[in-house]
Amino acid sequence: MRKKVGDKIIIGVKQEDLEESIAGLSQLLPVLLRNIAIGNKGNIRQTMIDQAELSKHFNTAIDTMTMLYAAHVEDGPVKEEILNIISEVERYRKIGSIEEFEQLKKKNTPTKVEPRGEMWVKCQCGAIIRPNKYCPYCGQRLEVVFCTKQY
Ligand SMILES: [Zn+2]
Repeated sequence: MRKKVGDKIIIGVKQEDLEESIAGLSQLLPVLLRNIAIGNKGNIRQTMIDQAELSKHFNTAIDTMTMLYAAHVEDGPVKEEILNIISEVERYRKIGSIEEFEQLKKKNTPTKVEPRGEMWVKCQCGAIIRPNKYCPYCGQRLEVVFCTKQY
């Protein structure tokens, strides 16, 4: 539910929908954290970075919904604060969904390439390419070590 009052937009959420969403997200988080660990294939450092980031966003969402839930019984300045929090959540949503965020993270996580002779490597997508930071065919970030000489 959404309605405009003066220059403010009032957004309403059903109490039972909130209860369900809080429980749902709380149960989903550990599952996604496990999937990150699996997806990063033993890359502990990357796994910790990805898990911290995902947890932060999830906890923001859960905290926000919990505050909103509490506000069903409260009034006054709390509601004002909650409206501000909701507009912050809407800004998150404009950036994209959790699934999109996960896909971008995956694309930007360096993956191993197989050497093909001295000058070429094979990307996970199957393309035989010159060593580069990203695969020009699938966009995957690659784990390529460049030799740099300093003169
Ligand atoms: Zn590729």
